[in-house]
Amino acid sequence: MKCYICAEQGRDTEAVAICIVCGMGVCMEHLVRKDVELWRGDYPFPARKLKKPVPRILCVICNEAYEEG
Ligand SMILES: [Zn+2]
Ligand SMILES: [Zn+2]
Repeated sequence: MKCYICAEQGRDTEAVAICIVCGMGVCMEHLVRKDVELWRGDYPFPARKLKKPVPRILCVICNEAYEEG
């Protein structure tokens, strides 16, 4: 999978993680690690559909949305 944000900028970078909120691939430059505590509550956590646990990582876009909210 390629980094979605890099792809939008015309770059071709291999993704190293997947945003747990929007599900898009992100490279090291565009991922943000988040504290687990953030995910308590009733947010529809998408990882339950996956077979393997994923790192709790957001893309920079979703991170910005959370910082603002
Ligand atoms: Zn990227
Ligand atoms: Zn995201």
